[in-house]
Amino acid sequence: MIGVAEAEALILKDCLLLPITAVPLELALGRVLREPVLADRDLPPFDRVTMDGIALAFDDWQAGRTKFEVIGQQRAGQLPLSPGISGQAIEIMTGAVCPPGLDTVVRREDLLFSEEKGKKWVEIQAKVLSKGQNIHEAGYDGRAGMVLLEEGQLLRAPEIGVLASAGYAKVRVSGVPRVALISTGDELVEVHQMPLPHQIRRSNVFALAAALSSVAACEVSLLHLPDEPQAMRDHLRPVLAGHDVLILSGGVSAGEADYVPRVLSDLGVQPVFHKVRQRPGKPFWFGRKEDKAVFGLPGNPVSTLLGFYRYVQAFLGQRLGLHPVAPAYARLSEDFTFAPQLTYFLPVWASSSPEGIYEARPFPGHGSGDYANLRWGNGFLELPEEQSYFPAGTVYRFWPF
Ligand code: AMP
Ligand code: MG
Repeated sequence: MIGVAEAEALILKDCLLLPITAVPLELALGRVLREPVLADRDLPPFDRVTMDGIALAFDDWQAGRTKFEVIGQQRAGQLPLSPGISGQAIEIMTGAVCPPGLDTVVRREDLLFSEEKGKKWVEIQAKVLSKGQNIHEAGYDGRAGMVLLEEGQLLRAPEIGVLASAGYAKVRVSGVPRVALISTGDELVEVHQMPLPHQIRRSNVFALAAALSSVAACEVSLLHLPDEPQAMRDHLRPVLAGHDVLILSGGVSAGEADYVPRVLSDLGVQPVFHKVRQRPGKPFWFGRKEDKAVFGLPGNPVSTLLGFYRYVQAFLGQRLGLHPVAPAYARLSEDFTFAPQLTYFLPVWASSSPEGIYEARPFPGHGSGDYANLRWGNGFLELPEEQSYFPAGTVYRFWPF
């Protein structure tokens, strides 16, 4: 039986990148960027006024002038006016271009306007001005040609804004993985059905779909297979052909009705490993057919979900070309003991202590069937197999939900 690190390495080995496709910006949320995004203009592209007020030449004011003739008004989106001579100022709005020759904006609250001889005047009431105030200088945040986003970036709201600003009406991203989430088991009924006393609802695929949605945009199909090898084969054949990743839950243990490994082999899926030294989820099966990956996660709900976070997530990230995220760690808040020679995935609630340290409070629950226990946690700690006593204050890898 292999260990957790080896299982992970085998899953990530030879994991192919999805091909690149171009999508309209409106559909880019949740996709993974596959081209560097460059600024086509300086940031900001012009000297941008950041306050409503008056634009003037600082040197004029410094020379002692406090009253200026207002020769015009300039709003955002208008071509800049140009004042002719010193002593002239322009009434200006946020977002407008600072007119050439002027370099300082005094906000409206510090101004007194008046009208004399058909002309408009403004008196500067502020005692202190600094040159360039209330102007966001062209190129201050970055220069045209600079890399704004790198390949491998998950496109969230801030990145969508950056893309739009840089003129990317279309953007090159990874294709969407086609993922089949497949429950197995004759005891399972639909969520809307009232189970008989010997039945349960097929919750795993819904939990998996929810977990998937936080990784990246995926095309997800939910399916169910009965515990019958011929029917399994018949159902799985087209599913295998039409998807990049299959995630099965259940049917991989040593029971009489655990047909999944055999059926997958029959369909040409090469087994890579079966069983990992871990709890929960020891019967975990993984195989490949060409560039397709098949995860056979044990059906107990805790095993299924933790298996997704521990293995499938990283696989999808690599497939999509996502920048790997830096691992998270948390400090155990109390002593914990786990004797078997297995890596233990311990559900915890991790939160920051008043000292700013990420502290994990264990919620071990009652084993892999205790799905409701996971609601107390926001992730799990990975406790290494060589150890059986885990003292309070020691730090372990944390996998967030
Ligand atoms: P198995 O791995 O098929 O032996 O299933 C282990 C346990 O998990 C059994 O008690 C199953 O009823 C349960 N189980 C399997 N699949 C699901 C599912 N989709 N939703 C909830 N429980 C499941
Ligand atoms: Mg089963």
